[in-house]
Amino acid sequence: MRLNRFGIRIAVSTLALAVSCGAQAVTDEDILNDANTPEDVVTYGMGTQGQRFSTLANLNTDNIQYLQPAWAFSFGSEKMRGQESQPLIKDGVMYVTASYSRVYAIDARTGEELWQYDARLPDGIMPCCDVVNRGVALYGNKVYFGTLDARLVALNKDTGKPEWIKKVADYQAGYAITAAPIIIKGKIITGVAGGEFGVVGKVEAYDAETGDLAWTRPTVEGHMGYVYEDGEKVENGISGGEAGRTWPGDMWKTGGAAPWLGGTYDQDTDTLFFGTSNPSPWNSHLRPGDNLFSSSRLAIDPDDGSIKWHFQTTPHDGWDYDGVNELISFNYEENGKTVMAAATADRNGFFYVLNRENGDFIRGFPFVDKITWATGLDPKTGRPIYAENGRPGDPADMDGSKGEAVVAQPAFLGGKNWMPMAYSQKTGLFYVPSNEWSMDIWNEPVSYKRGGAFLGAGFTIKPANDDYIGVLRAMDPKTGEEVWRHENPAPLWGGVMTTAGDLVFTGTPEGYLKAFDAKTGEELYKFNTGSGVVGTPVTWQMDGEQFVSVASGWGGAVPLWGGEVAKVVKHFNQGGTVWTFKLPKDRVASQ
Ligand code: CA
Ligand code: CA
Repeated sequence: MRLNRFGIRIAVSTLALAVSCGAQAVTDEDILNDANTPEDVVTYGMGTQGQRFSTLANLNTDNIQYLQPAWAFSFGSEKMRGQESQPLIKDGVMYVTASYSRVYAIDARTGEELWQYDARLPDGIMPCCDVVNRGVALYGNKVYFGTLDARLVALNKDTGKPEWIKKVADYQAGYAITAAPIIIKGKIITGVAGGEFGVVGKVEAYDAETGDLAWTRPTVEGHMGYVYEDGEKVENGISGGEAGRTWPGDMWKTGGAAPWLGGTYDQDTDTLFFGTSNPSPWNSHLRPGDNLFSSSRLAIDPDDGSIKWHFQTTPHDGWDYDGVNELISFNYEENGKTVMAAATADRNGFFYVLNRENGDFIRGFPFVDKITWATGLDPKTGRPIYAENGRPGDPADMDGSKGEAVVAQPAFLGGKNWMPMAYSQKTGLFYVPSNEWSMDIWNEPVSYKRGGAFLGAGFTIKPANDDYIGVLRAMDPKTGEEVWRHENPAPLWGGVMTTAGDLVFTGTPEGYLKAFDAKTGEELYKFNTGSGVVGTPVTWQMDGEQFVSVASGWGGAVPLWGGEVAKVVKHFNQGGTVWTFKLPKDRVASQ
């Protein structure tokens, strides 16, 4: 259901009232309509489908050059690490997370702090890839987020005081939460991180009001899922497939497949889409088989957690390509018919277009310049055609201590990593934040130890070119054509947003918020925020003006895991600021 014009007018006319008494409660309808209501941003993804497309056009290719900061807000303290958050905005209040599991409510007109919440993490947390958080969820009168010690926290939206806190998993076994939760039909739904520690991945739903577990869906084949009512299992287990079918021995018990990047939701098919990480350990010779449901996209029923279909991008992953990247629902016309599709740009270098009703492969193509591990995709199934000698070798074939190394491209940090791409309903293009890098990778023996790294691999990442690593690309999902590209010296690690004003926004580790022409890729605007931008921009309308916000603060996985690439970026300054921009009044075109 979409808000009609009358509905939108009502929402705007109540804004003044809302400001005087704080933000109004967020309803299911607010969440489902988010992409069509530019006066607020109440979901991660600027809409549950995750398109990150704004219908606003006040700000456009003609006036973007005049964009100016309205205010900047410091996250404060010494906790300056990667700021990968996407802000939410409701009734003039911004809710944004920061490194080390912190949340801030800010007056979106002035940049003044309303409250802050610090999760006070224990010493033993085990985040693989920096102490990041990607954002909150809003529902009713609460603000929700996940913590690095794998808890879900519900805060009062007006005071920032916790209303309930639930342990989702044991951080001492390697679990963490970094993704923004998603709220559908009154349930708050989260994944977990931990694929580098041999956890068992799972997606779980909790009652948003009470915090009671509603269902649990493990994402390693062989583990059962369950539905709960009042704390009791109310149904027999919902099968997660046969233990041992795609895993040898007991390997499925520590199989990873962590859905650490959260999910999207498609209202047309009533389906959640979550991706899963690498199978554990990285050394693939220890686990012959496809290792379901690792490195896959899962279509999940939001009512009971059952798996409707799965699509595995990297069966028997031996390169840590994961399969977590966001699956974005979109429709396109072909031969006079509307295709209900979904697209994802995988770490493994291929871009996939799927039928979102049944998971059927429609087409796939490389979105990076070079892929060494596969020669292509089976045109019928989308299954990769493995390159000969593309897989790092088995230590057992050598002296047992180290297998034969290979050069693999993309590197394990991916042709694209966590940073979300955007889809423009105007141009029909996807805007993909990608990177060109390779790695030396080899396997080593390893055995599982609870809470220890479970890799069995060594690696060094290297730039693929002398003068750039990052490439922002406009990709045509119907043809696989790269319509334009913009190269950046440092690897891109921030999310992308596009608008009806034909603009594409993203940030760079060099510190810039940038805007591009969505049709041509021409760089139209840049502003240096003082630290690397690895957050995800948003835009909304307030008091008749269009605003843009983005978090700034260099960090994330690249400085920690980047090998030779980390040397390229080691001089970038850390930070922690959310910036908000708008046009000066005399530059706004009359409506
Ligand atoms: Ca909205
Ligand atoms: Ca991984």
